[in-house]
Amino acid sequence: MVRRVEAVVIIGGGTAGWLTAGVIAARHQARINAGRFSVTLVESPDIRIIGVGEGTWPTMRSSLETMGVSETELFRECDAAFKQGGKFARWTTGAEDDAYYHPLMVPQGFSHVNLVPHWLREGQGRSFCDFVTPQGRLCDEGLAPKTITHAEYRGSANYAYHLDAGKFAPFLARHCTAKLGVRHVLADVVSVTQSESGDIRSVLTRQAGEIPGDLFIDCSGFAALLIGKTLGVGFKECGDTLFCDTALAVQVPFETPDAPMASQTIASAQEAGWIWDICLPTRRGIGYVYLSRHAGEEAARDTLLRYIGPRHKDLPVRKIPIRSGHREIFWKNNCVAMGLAQGFLEPLESSAIVLVEISAKLLAEQMPACREVMDIVARRFNEVTMYRWGRIIDFLKLHYVLTRRTDTAFWRDNVDPATIPERLRDLLMLWKYQSPWFFDELDRLEEVFPAASYQYVLYGMGFRTEVAPEDTADTAPVASRMVGENERMTAELCRWLPKNRELLAKIHAYGLQAV
Ligand SMILES: Cc1cc2nc3c(=O)[nH]c(=O)nc-3n(C[C@H](O)[C@H](O)[C@H](O)COP(=O)(O)OP(=O)(O)OC[C@H]3O[C@@H](n4cnc5c(N)ncnc54)[C@H](O)[C@@H]3O)c2cc1C
Repeated sequence: MVRRVEAVVIIGGGTAGWLTAGVIAARHQARINAGRFSVTLVESPDIRIIGVGEGTWPTMRSSLETMGVSETELFRECDAAFKQGGKFARWTTGAEDDAYYHPLMVPQGFSHVNLVPHWLREGQGRSFCDFVTPQGRLCDEGLAPKTITHAEYRGSANYAYHLDAGKFAPFLARHCTAKLGVRHVLADVVSVTQSESGDIRSVLTRQAGEIPGDLFIDCSGFAALLIGKTLGVGFKECGDTLFCDTALAVQVPFETPDAPMASQTIASAQEAGWIWDICLPTRRGIGYVYLSRHAGEEAARDTLLRYIGPRHKDLPVRKIPIRSGHREIFWKNNCVAMGLAQGFLEPLESSAIVLVEISAKLLAEQMPACREVMDIVARRFNEVTMYRWGRIIDFLKLHYVLTRRTDTAFWRDNVDPATIPERLRDLLMLWKYQSPWFFDELDRLEEVFPAASYQYVLYGMGFRTEVAPEDTADTAPVASRMVGENERMTAELCRWLPKNRELLAKIHAYGLQAV
């Protein structure tokens, strides 16, 4: 008899648990309504969610829209704001004016023409970002990516969100239980029962007894209750490539309630790591991510205090240890890991939540019909997810290897070739002669960071790709049209987009038009 997969049980109610529940339940609504499929989320009433992770990626818009979440409610209930990219300060030389953008819009005409060689030959004086997209200017001017007349999830510029992580998971929980039929059980998992094959049969909880399932999803955070503790899947350390092992996080109030709001995550390089700075409408979330071997806790606290200013010296600072790495596999037997249970590298570029979204989507789309085919789906999932972890590691490390800072051991050690993954070393060699571009990805399903992201970081940090005059001759007419189009669009958007805070106030007051 075929063993159908009908009962999905998720352990953990943080961002990973609820996003996964929502993505799966939305995709399988008809089966849920027909009583042939269920999604149950079990969450400890006492173990707190991690409560950081406030920068997202534009994929969040389609994830939430697919789940039927109202964007207006997201802004109102999660203290959400727009995110239009990252601004990296003092990563290249360490000088005061050293900064570049990694915006969320791809370069103008990205699928038709590669503007990198044109910028390298003709664009000097302007940053690569300004040469190819309006978004750096929009960030500089503090402008929103849309207006109040845009419908939910639509905009003039690509965007993601900054949001209050402590409010986001409960917000998703309310939506998933009320609208998508997800069953919510508040209980502590105390043990796990397994069949002879190693498959998980059920979890035993302190408050709600035994909860059986066909497929278990481990979203239990760093505890990795099922994938690690129960199934014994090993952890691959990545600390020799991505060094940061500690974060100090603090929430800082604005001077005045109408203070201007940045819509870019600001990442400022420091002696032994970097500081994130995320603006929400009511406060800033700030944190220093660093290598504790190079900065003791006291020195790290001093660095953070210097950044936030002495008047904030009494704000509570939370210390979060980071073990950079990921599981050796992500799906074993009938258990899939998501979120921190899958692994974590560091907060740079908000790569964690986006990986949850695309992993949940992959799982929802490929949901095995029965146990008999599960191992085939699991193999595919493991292969794709391992590729994605590898690419994220390459991309994060790219920010460190392009530095020309030599002022501290942290930055000097980061450029040691022995710490650079082999694929990234090859790519750096390749990019000396040909830049990354759209066509690199045609054979790939969904890259976490597309070639455009690599372009922004490489050329933002002063990397040089060799270009001969004849290399740009064939595409010169289309390139000059795109550059002109970008200039026109930049001027136009700067004229009519509202300021971030102004638009957020309007959304709170009137709401956006639902799609
Ligand atoms: C310093 C820092 C900054 C970060 N910044 C970003 C960022 O800007 N962008 C980004 O994308 N990501 C970021 N991340 C990562 C992001 O926070 C996480 O990926 C995201 O919050 C998902 O966490 P989670 O749901 O996997 O785990 P958690 O939030 O830890 O949730 C774990 C859940 O498991 C439950 N649980 C645990 N044990 C049991 C048990 N025995 N029984 C029942 N339930 C149990 C808990 O109750 C909880 O509900 C950051 C991480 C850190 C450490």
